[in-house]
Amino acid sequence: MWWTSIAMKSSSQAAQVEALVEAQQQGRLAQSLIISGDAEVQDEVLSRLVPRLLCENGGQPGCTCRSCTTAWPQHPDYIELVREGHAIRVGDAHEAVDSLVAGPLWSPSKVVVIRPADSLSREAESYLLKHLEEPPAYVHYLLLTEFPDSLLATIRSRCHHWRFAKGGNDDDVVDLTQRLWSEPLTAERVVQATYWARRQYVRTAHPAWLTVWETLESTYRQLEANGNAELAAAQIRRVWPMTQAR
Ligand SMILES: [Zn+2]
Repeated sequence: MWWTSIAMKSSSQAAQVEALVEAQQQGRLAQSLIISGDAEVQDEVLSRLVPRLLCENGGQPGCTCRSCTTAWPQHPDYIELVREGHAIRVGDAHEAVDSLVAGPLWSPSKVVVIRPADSLSREAESYLLKHLEEPPAYVHYLLLTEFPDSLLATIRSRCHHWRFAKGGNDDDVVDLTQRLWSEPLTAERVVQATYWARRQYVRTAHPAWLTVWETLESTYRQLEANGNAELAAAQIRRVWPMTQAR
């Protein structure tokens, strides 16, 4: 995906990601992890870790096994818990946990990604407690969040917490604008911009960012439903902060 090529802005952050990957390679990775950091580092961790957990040949670089050549959403052992509206609902958590009873189909592991973990409803968090504590041996839970302190203390105590240092300058609107418009608009690009706009809104509480965020989310849904990319791009340009971006 295009954002995996974004250069890590902080060398300490890059070193932390390496340490995490090394822990996985050496079999030292806890099964229930909280990965806390900004959206970029979350993307980086996922793009490094998930393929290694799913690979059928021990995560060799350049591997072309079935798992390494399948997009995650289509992979039978990859499960993602995401928000519907403002929260990740307990019903979805039930469904995910139920699907873990059977062992993995292709991979050595089943990977459950919960993102953003801070949007788990309290009910969903309570339900997940005992599952995070004693997952089946083949299950890896990855809870990604910018706000780990908003998780229940009992969730935090059951997970190994990797807290990533703050990245560099995340006000790099020019850079993001160039990336967003330099090629045809795709759903992946919009997702990255959505994370970024959400971060700006959370940091500044400025309603303009909320508008950008909401517009990006609705544009993403249109693109996913095979909507017209040019119309979608025009909608984003109307609210985008850098209007000189064509
Ligand atoms: Zn592989």
